[in-house]
Amino acid sequence: MTSFSPLPPVAEMARRVLTGEVEPYHWVHESLRRIQLSDSGERPLGAFLSLLDPERPDLPAPVGVAPDTNWPLAGVPVAVKDNLATLDLPTTCGSRILEGYVSPFEATVVRRLRAAGAVIVGKTNMDEFAMGSSTENSSARVTRNPRDLGRVPGGSSGGSAAAVAADLVPLALGSDTGGSVRQPAAFCGLVGIKPTYGRVSRYGLVAYASSLDQVGTMGRSVTEAARLLEVIAGHDPLDSTSSTRPVPRLAAAASGGVAGLVVGVPGEYVSDALDPAVRKHIARALELLSSRGAEIRRVSLPHTRWAIPTYYILAPAEASSNLARFDGVRYGFRAPGVGDTHELYEATRSAGFGAEVKRRIMLGTYVLSAGYYDAYYGRAQKVRSLIVDDFRQVFASGVDVLFTPTAPTPAFLLGEKTADPYTMYLSDIFTVTANLAGIPALSLPVGEVDGLPVGGQFMAPAWGEEVMIRAARALEMGLSGEGA
Ligand code: GLN
Repeated sequence: MTSFSPLPPVAEMARRVLTGEVEPYHWVHESLRRIQLSDSGERPLGAFLSLLDPERPDLPAPVGVAPDTNWPLAGVPVAVKDNLATLDLPTTCGSRILEGYVSPFEATVVRRLRAAGAVIVGKTNMDEFAMGSSTENSSARVTRNPRDLGRVPGGSSGGSAAAVAADLVPLALGSDTGGSVRQPAAFCGLVGIKPTYGRVSRYGLVAYASSLDQVGTMGRSVTEAARLLEVIAGHDPLDSTSSTRPVPRLAAAASGGVAGLVVGVPGEYVSDALDPAVRKHIARALELLSSRGAEIRRVSLPHTRWAIPTYYILAPAEASSNLARFDGVRYGFRAPGVGDTHELYEATRSAGFGAEVKRRIMLGTYVLSAGYYDAYYGRAQKVRSLIVDDFRQVFASGVDVLFTPTAPTPAFLLGEKTADPYTMYLSDIFTVTANLAGIPALSLPVGEVDGLPVGGQFMAPAWGEEVMIRAARALEMGLSGEGA
């Protein structure tokens, strides 16, 4: 794969468009050119599932030439995960069952991107219905990690992460149900933000596990990922779970520094069991935070060990219900030549869903069925409350943000974990808790092991994006030697 020079900072790209220094679609053409090149050669990157045709006659009018603060993303190419509905490109969720499906409406986050002047250059590859941690569950294609083409980009938003990390686009949207924005960001050396549950509208996000799903942002820096979040966040009457709270100026919050902040380090996340190479970078990051005036405090989140089983009961349970709508009647693929409706559903779902999705639907149906509901689903709901309470207590004790690794290891090899779903599930150990608790979390690069990026994660109380972004920016500056 060809590698490309970094694109300018997002604000600079938009400025050049608004001042007329470059054509309105200059960056879009550049991005599409890079995407095409990234897919040529023996080991294609495979970040995208569909691409904008810049020659199509119904392209939205180019943005004007007078600088307009309402267009912070004027002419900026943005990549969007394929589970977010778009009018001009298919929305397939990386699944055969939605092959060729084009939504009749657009996701609110996509509409907000367009209103900010952004151009959606393509839809990115993902694990089928966002179920996975490596993008290997896509029915469509393989996505490679731009940092090492033999490795996974992470998942499930692996295409979005690969697209930004390979300098094809400066920004991308993903979705995060149990880590799908943060873990690929960590594997590809990017910043990824999962907002508080309710901060961003889920309208037009194809539902996986509705009580956990949030749209998240990816960028090359804390400020750019935060700016993108500002663009998409805020109440939406079309999603009753979206909050009416005002959206703070998140990118501006980044400059606050960490002096006086209490950074909690949960012993359950940073223990002797952690990969020593990852641990070394976490320790160095904590030293930096401390040298910039943060107080580092060991804390405990005692129910962490139950997070994976809890997540892998609740998420499949919700998925089994959400995915019932894909029946060959209303959307996409339909199995040919079958008789009655029952046969149609069965044949369509058997041929349309991949192995992991079927596994989750069966697991989810099982834990919700009469006789097992109390033992599995009911109990997992109770444990979820205990996990929520762990965080509540730690934050009530004066801790401002928590700091942990994002994933137990750097990016693994393609094919390394596909044979054993359980080892794949374990790679989500540090990320699923924020979704279960509904709190915001952010991953940023904190170092490298053998050339592979390692991610560190900040978590904050619900609606605490500002303090989380502040802490992350301070660490990012510290690591790059800025403002020392
Ligand atoms: N890897 C987790 C899963 O497979 C999380 C996925 C996500 O956040 N969408 O469910």
